[in-house]
Amino acid sequence: MTNETMNFGADVSRLLDIVAHALYSNRDVFLRELVSNAADACDRLRYESIRDPSLTSGDTTFKINVFKDTGYRCLHVQDNGIGMSRQEMIDNLGTIAKSGTRAMMEQIKSNPANDQDRLSLIGQFGVGFYASFMVAHKVEVISRRAGTAETHHWESDGRAGFTIREATADEAKKLSSGRGTLIILHVNDDASDFLIDEKLKQVIQIWSDHISVPVYLSDPAKTEIDEKPVNAGSALWMRSKQDITTEQYEEFYRHISHGLDEPVLTSHWRAEGKIEYTALLYIPTLRPWDMYDPGRKTSVRLYVKRVFISDTMDGLMYPWMRFVRGVIDSEDLPLNISREMLQMNPVIAKIRSGVAKRILSDLNKLSEDDPAAFKTFWGQFGPVLKEGLYDAVEHREGLFKIARFFSTHQEDTLTSLSDYVSRMKDGQDSIYYITGENLETLKNSPQIEGFKARGIEVLLMTDTIDDFWLQQIHDFDGKPFKSVTKGSIDLSKFEKQNKTDDKKPESEHRDTTPLLASLKDLLKDEVGDVRISSRLTDSPVCLVAAEGEVDMHMERVLKIHQK
Ligand code: ADP
Ligand code: MG
Repeated sequence: MTNETMNFGADVSRLLDIVAHALYSNRDVFLRELVSNAADACDRLRYESIRDPSLTSGDTTFKINVFKDTGYRCLHVQDNGIGMSRQEMIDNLGTIAKSGTRAMMEQIKSNPANDQDRLSLIGQFGVGFYASFMVAHKVEVISRRAGTAETHHWESDGRAGFTIREATADEAKKLSSGRGTLIILHVNDDASDFLIDEKLKQVIQIWSDHISVPVYLSDPAKTEIDEKPVNAGSALWMRSKQDITTEQYEEFYRHISHGLDEPVLTSHWRAEGKIEYTALLYIPTLRPWDMYDPGRKTSVRLYVKRVFISDTMDGLMYPWMRFVRGVIDSEDLPLNISREMLQMNPVIAKIRSGVAKRILSDLNKLSEDDPAAFKTFWGQFGPVLKEGLYDAVEHREGLFKIARFFSTHQEDTLTSLSDYVSRMKDGQDSIYYITGENLETLKNSPQIEGFKARGIEVLLMTDTIDDFWLQQIHDFDGKPFKSVTKGSIDLSKFEKQNKTDDKKPESEHRDTTPLLASLKDLLKDEVGDVRISSRLTDSPVCLVAAEGEVDMHMERVLKIHQK
C-alpha cells in the first residue's frame, strides 16, 4: 500500500498556525464546520443522484453520525454523502483553493484584532475543515466517493503536511453505507468535554438544529432502531414562522454565513401566486470583507423543492443586493437540468425582482420601527444599494424610499429625500446637493455658504457612487437634482436668515462690471467665466462648473479612473 506524504500549501500552514494559536474562545465552531460539511456532502449527493440514481444504489436515507470512542479519546463525524476521491482529498483538504485567501490573510496580519474579530474573519472566509485542529492534535479522514470502489485514508497532525493512502479493509468497513466520509479527531487533553454526549448534543442543537439532514449521536454500525436524531432535521425555512425562535433564526444565519455577528434584518416569507418560493434571507450587521471584490458571488443558496442546487447562482440576486445571505427554495424550477440551463430560466429573474421588492420594503419598515438598526445597516451597505439606482429602474422608487443622505439641515444626521422635500423653501424647485470624498470638507465648501445663509438645505454626498447615479437620474418626486458646484444658481429671491450680515442692500452694491472684466481678462486661460454670485457669504470666491458640464467632483472622479 503506497503511503504518500505531502506538504500543505503555504497558505494552509499559515492558516493552521492562526487556528491553533489564536482561538481559544468559542471552539465549538469546529463541530459546526464538520457537521455543515457533512450536510453539504449529503445535499450534493441528493442533487447528483437526481440525474444518476445509481450513485445512491437506492439508499437515499441521508444521515450524519457524531459519536465518541472514549478509550482512544476520539470523536467521529460520519456522513453518507458524496464522499471524496483520492484527488479530491488532496485538493480539498491540502490546499486552500479559494480565491481571496490572500486578502483574508493580509487582513488578519494588518489588523491586530482580538480573537473574536479574527474568528469572525476566519469564519467569513470559512476556515471550515481546518477548525478541527482547534481541538485535535491528529485528524484522520476516511472517504469513498459515491459510485466508486476505492476508499482512501488521509491523516495529518495539522503542522507541515499530511499523508494519504488506500484505506485498509477495516477502515473501509466503517463507512457503513458504502460511501461518504468519516472524520476521526484525536482530541486534545484540554478539549475533553467534546467526548461527553451531553456536550455534543448541546453543541449540535445550537449549531445544527435547522440543517435538513438528521444528526445522530451514535455509531451507525451499531445504531439501534428508532433512535431519535438530536436535531430537528427538517429545513428551517419550511417551518412556519410561529414555530421558529429568534435563536433558531440566528443560528441558521451563522450556519449559512459563517459569521459571528447577528443579522440586522431577518425576512422569512412564502411567495404564492404565479411563482411560488420560500425565502429566508438575512442582512448582516457587518460588511463582508470581500464586499467590493469583483469576483464575489451572491451568497444566497438556491434550493429547488428542498434540494440544494447552488450557492453561486448568478442572477439570483441583483449585484447591489450581494450582501444578502440566506436561502431561496423554489417550487417552480425544474430539477433535472444543469445549473447553467437553470440560470437562464425566466423564473430566476422573477424571483430576483420579487425578492428585491420585498427586501426593500422590509428595510423601509426597519427604518420606521428601529431607526438605530437601520442606521447601522445604511452605514454598511448604503453605498452598495445605491448601485441599484442606476442599475434597476423598476426598483428606483423602493430604493429612494430608504436612501439616506447627510445634509446641512442637521449636522451628522441622515435625512431621506422625502424629508428634504418637505423642508423645501417656498419657491425652491430643486434638490440641491454637493458631492465630494469628505463630509468635513463639504460642510465647509464656499459653494454652499449662500444656501446655508438662506436656510436652503443642501445634501452632502460622499459616496463615489453618488456621482454616477446623479448622472442618470434627473429628479425625485418631480424635483430636479441640482449640483451647487455647477452653472448659475440665483438665490436672490430667497431671503437671508440673518439680515444684519447684509450691510448694504443689493442695489447699493458698487458697479462690478469693471472688476469682472479685468478678472476675466486675467484668468482667461484658466476659467470660462467670472460671475457675481449669491452662493457666497464669507468666502470671496469659489469655483463652479458650467451648466451642462460634469460637476467638479465628478470631473475629479473621472480623472482618477482614467489613470
Ligand atoms: P468549505 O466547506 O467552505 O468548502 P471546508 O474547509 O469546510 O470548506 O471544506 C473544504 C472542502 O472539503 C469542501 O468544499 C469539500 O469539497 C470537502 N469536504 C469537507 N468535508 C467533506 C465531507 N464530509 N464530504 C465530502 N467532502 C468534504
Ligand atoms: Mg465547510
